Amino acid sequence: KESELLGKTDYDFVDKELADSFRQHDKKAEKANQALSNEEWLTFADDGHTGLFETIKTPLKNNKGKTIGILGIARDITERKQAEEQSRLATSVFTNTQEGILITNKDNHIIDVNPAGCKITGYSREELLGKNPRFLNAHIQPAETYTEMWQSISDTGHWQGDLWNRKKNDEVYAERLSIAKVEDESGLLTHYVGIFSDITYIKEHQTELEKIANNDPLTGLPNRLLLRDRMSQALAQASRHHKLIAVCYLDLDGFKPINDQYGHKAGDLVLVEIAKRLQQGVRTGDTASRLGGDEFVLLMLDIETSEKLEHIIQRIVHDIAEPIELPDGIVSVSASIGVTIYPYDNNEADILLRHADQAMYEAKQSGKNCFVFFDSKSEQKQAKTQTIYREIELAITENQFQLYYQPKINMRTGSIVGVEALIRWQHPEKGLLSSNTFLTAIENHPLIIKLGDWVLQEALSQLQLWQAQGLNLIVSVNIAARQLQQHNFMPKLKSLLSDFPEVSPSQLELEILETSALEDLQHANKILKACKQLDINVAIDDFGTGYSSLTYLKHLSIQTIKIDQSFVHDILVDPSDMSIVDGILQLAKAFNRTPLAEGVETNNHGSLLLMLGCELGQGYAISRPIPANKIPAWISTYKIPDEWKQIEHVHLDNSDITLSALSVEYYRLVASMLDAIKNKSPSLLPANCHDHTRCKLGHWLSETEHKLYSKLTEYKKIADEHRKVHKMSSELVNLLNDDNTAKIESITLELIDHRNNVLSYLKKLQSHI
Ligand code: C2E
Ligand code: MG
Ligand code: MG
Repeated sequence: KESELLGKTDYDFVDKELADSFRQHDKKAEKANQALSNEEWLTFADDGHTGLFETIKTPLKNNKGKTIGILGIARDITERKQAEEQSRLATSVFTNTQEGILITNKDNHIIDVNPAGCKITGYSREELLGKNPRFLNAHIQPAETYTEMWQSISDTGHWQGDLWNRKKNDEVYAERLSIAKVEDESGLLTHYVGIFSDITYIKEHQTELEKIANNDPLTGLPNRLLLRDRMSQALAQASRHHKLIAVCYLDLDGFKPINDQYGHKAGDLVLVEIAKRLQQGVRTGDTASRLGGDEFVLLMLDIETSEKLEHIIQRIVHDIAEPIELPDGIVSVSASIGVTIYPYDNNEADILLRHADQAMYEAKQSGKNCFVFFDSKSEQKQAKTQTIYREIELAITENQFQLYYQPKINMRTGSIVGVEALIRWQHPEKGLLSSNTFLTAIENHPLIIKLGDWVLQEALSQLQLWQAQGLNLIVSVNIAARQLQQHNFMPKLKSLLSDFPEVSPSQLELEILETSALEDLQHANKILKACKQLDINVAIDDFGTGYSSLTYLKHLSIQTIKIDQSFVHDILVDPSDMSIVDGILQLAKAFNRTPLAEGVETNNHGSLLLMLGCELGQGYAISRPIPANKIPAWISTYKIPDEWKQIEHVHLDNSDITLSALSVEYYRLVASMLDAIKNKSPSLLPANCHDHTRCKLGHWLSETEHKLYSKLTEYKKIADEHRKVHKMSSELVNLLNDDNTAKIESITLELIDHRNNVLSYLKKLQSHI
């Protein structure tokens, strides 16, 4: 109040320190003799609030120039000061923060950007001013992102999210951006402020992490986790789109031997290459994934028909079998694939995988390098298998198994070289069962080991019995793949041998399937070497059905090669089988191994084998497998057929062997001509059949013209007839096109005549030679 102020000085209202500064200010003004301003903190008397005042002090003088007082004017500047402080702070934040800040006007044109914003975008402030921030867009996120962004800003006043933008140097970066709209007091939009930071590193790290979590580190293919995810997604969509989905479980055949022989690094290279081929083999949108080891799963969507699917898988099987180049050589693997199709197999992801796995297992069993479709019947089959396991288990304890023995002889001399033990099951209800009815069911089951142990024991005790009768034989025993893979195979065998001291280990021979020896070459070879030390002979069984590779023949310590009966069976009718047998014989010779032919079913088989130079044989023509007690009598009475004796001095050179092959080829050639006539279709005629020099017989004729037997009349007649037949085939084209029925009929009869002539001349030529 005025009364409270009168008579006081402003010094009276403040503490001593301030009062002193006021005094000094007054003195300064008096001395300078002019108005001087100062900022002073004062406390309001009424509410105790402290504020900053701008005070101007002006000395008042009388006309004589003497100071008579001070005029003081004070103005409260607290708020202004605070605003200034805030703006100073804001400016400092704007310029020094690491986040980019971009301010646009309400039309979204940039009106300011801070240094960090320039650094992140790579543009200078001048380059940015006036532009719409949209020009930074890298066009990676979908357009909807922007629609949603503006919707959110208009609804809530702000938006936050991640965007991919492009820098001035064209580099794409990820930014985390938050945008707020700025309004004036009346609520009118004035600006937008965007604050952003470069999160490319975080993004990259994040995708890296996702990749690690979802992908197989070796091949980069999706792993089980991601596969499962994709499967669930696909299944959810499939029920909406009514499309087929295929799940293909793929396991490589012959991968382990590569790992063993070339090392893990090479194995990895193979896996990477296979992964690449798989990825190329499926369509975009499909998934090729690796579960681990040599197991892969393909998920194929939008399949129209199972035929089309079959086509695709066939191609994949083919692609995988293509050779793979490694630094140390060229290798190849194949794949066994199990396939199940949704919704035929209407189940969830995990069950589909299991079913495909089951089908893959069947593909393995049916010879590998193939694919098998899952069918629910195979589940029933599994239940049946369980029953078989129990039955076999029981049969072992009840002694229902029996060994039959099949002699192996030298077909030239008639002497016996050994007998092969072959298991039979004297089934209480089904009678005598041969091995193929039950062995495949337990091939991969521990029971095969139990049964194999029994066979070895039984064979040795039979050997001991024969020994006692004065019969000194070699018995060969078939060893199953799983049996061979046991780590304690040798110790068990040794201890078993010590139970039969009268039997020499050299009387035992092991027959190992070519395919099972290859599964783990190193392990197999260890066993083979140990056998050699003990003087146990080892034979490779069913040779020709596996890889029949030169390298492992070189490495494996085996003495006998048993040529698989499937080739021997058709040597008389199929030239290519004869070539295979001939090839195996050459191979055996080159590697100094003893070949033995299985499946010598007829005397003719034996004859041809002898001509080819194969002396050892086994088969129905010699003897069927018989019970042990019949062996002594068989040995004492057996005589080789006379026709084999005559072959003793015959030696064939390669072109002569070909004669029987030629008969088969020639028969085929004429057969296809007859086929063309029957179907009235010239297109069924063999390619180039008008040219008599281009068929197999034509080649043979030109190659052998200078041989001794080319002087024989049969040889000349063959050449004549042969030319005639080819000439007829060109005529045939015209006749068929003109549909000249009468002539065609006569030519057919003529053709058959010529054919029969050629075949009989070939035969005669053969016997001359
Ligand atoms: P394998 O070792 O190749 O035995 C030859 C098979 O061919 C035997 O069939 C034999 O009876 C049959 N065979 C012999 N000569 C001829 C012939 O001239 N023509 C035809 N078509 N077949 C002939 P089996 O006894 O049914 O045995 C089949 C396979 O089962 C054997 O093939 C062998 O791999 C396996 N096996 C047999 N006994 C045992 C065993 O005790 N243990 C193991 N692990 N496997 C065995
Ligand atoms: Mg065998
Ligand atoms: Mg065999």
